[in-house]
Amino acid sequence: MSRRGLCLVLAAPSGAGKTTLSRLLLEQDDELNLSVSVTTRARRLGEKEGKHYHFITQERFDEMVEANELLEYARVFGRSYGTPRAPVEGALTMGQDVMFDIDWQGFRQLRASMGGDVVGVFIKPPSLEVLRHRLTKRGDTPEQVEARMEHAEAEISHAGEFDYIVENHDLDVALADLRAILRACRLETKRQL
Ligand code: 5GP
Repeated sequence: MSRRGLCLVLAAPSGAGKTTLSRLLLEQDDELNLSVSVTTRARRLGEKEGKHYHFITQERFDEMVEANELLEYARVFGRSYGTPRAPVEGALTMGQDVMFDIDWQGFRQLRASMGGDVVGVFIKPPSLEVLRHRLTKRGDTPEQVEARMEHAEAEISHAGEFDYIVENHDLDVALADLRAILRACRLETKRQL
């Protein structure tokens, strides 16, 4: 039976482990595709064009907004981030699920435009100290770490808007939680009829 694809949004403050979790989830699931966002921020060490993000200029970003090529977009840390529309619509039409690594602003916009196709999961770091440690370890500058720490508290205040909250204390447990959520959502009656 053909199934309706769903949009799985994973939101979290930067450094909560969301990127690792989403990579593992994708590796273990053939029906799940990652939505690769566009961003105007600089590429970090180890990030690949087209895999983690499409790194574009502000000018190109503005063109995409103008042409309605983005499903949602937001400013985060003074940089622009957005979700290209075409790959998402293509995947959903083919009964594939799409995972989004976006923030709460993006989740709100997606939910407003795609309604019941969207499932929102907020990944919570175990504590702000653990978050600071992770951010420092990955090579962000001290100024970036401070900005992201301040932003994290604001981000966490939006956790209540999501359908599920998963605490990433232990990676294996958090991954199992995510897989259980995805499985249950796929089995929802409305997606099978
Ligand atoms: P980072 O710069 O650490 O990769 O991401 C910063 C924040 O921007 C994260 O919370 C991330 O989820 C969010 N983000 C990344 N891509 C998008 C997007 O396309 N739309 C929105 N709204 N947020 C995004």
